Amino acid sequence: MRLRVVTAVLATMMLASASVQAAPKKLLVVTVTKGFRHKSIPVAETVLEELAAQSKAFRLDFARTDEELAAKMTPMALDAYDGVVFASTTGELPLPDRDAFLSWLARGKAFVGIHAATDTYHEWRPFIEMIGGEFKTHGPQVTVSMLVEDKSHPATKGLPASSDVHDEIYEFKSFEKERVKVLLYMDKHPQTKEPGFYPLAWTRMQGKGRVFYTALGHRDDVLQAPWFREHLLGGIVWALSR
Ligand SMILES: [Zn+2]
Repeated sequence: MRLRVVTAVLATMMLASASVQAAPKKLLVVTVTKGFRHKSIPVAETVLEELAAQSKAFRLDFARTDEELAAKMTPMALDAYDGVVFASTTGELPLPDRDAFLSWLARGKAFVGIHAATDTYHEWRPFIEMIGGEFKTHGPQVTVSMLVEDKSHPATKGLPASSDVHDEIYEFKSFEKERVKVLLYMDKHPQTKEPGFYPLAWTRMQGKGRVFYTALGHRDDVLQAPWFREHLLGGIVWALSR
């Protein structure tokens, strides 16, 4: 009997200490779409789940439907999360309280945008200003040279200075280089190869909140590539560390 009590007490203590020590951050992954729906969204979800399990740095919850969005993104519900990931969301999502979402972020939370996250909320300028750029167009899938602008950032430090990637490559509008910190870019237009500056991934601060966006990740094989997983994990961990 006494042994059983001791075992129970020990188990309770171990549970308590585990929850204090580990306390992984909580990320809400949003995959609701009101425009184009990428076939690669389930692959993105799986990759995020694998990164969460592998890093133990965060755990995930999902908002896949309007109902889940309405329930999990109220001002009160958002407080339970350390960050959100918009994984190829598109269009005007029915957020319960848009302004509260941006103030929540600015108080020191994390926003991670993957690929079509910039094809979301074209009608809501504060969102475009927050994410730092707006999807304009893309041509056929193409191989481009991806250049690292910031070699010290967790999202890019594992990447060579220049590498090739084959994906659907976004071009942006409403993008100002001065408003963001560029991580990845191209020095040629993805289709015409005309010299210029074309961003592929960046970060910015939204008040005390951290924003990470990567334009890559249209294709399944890009999402699953070891370098992309490291890029994404680095971006998430950076965004979550206040
Ligand atoms: Zn795409």
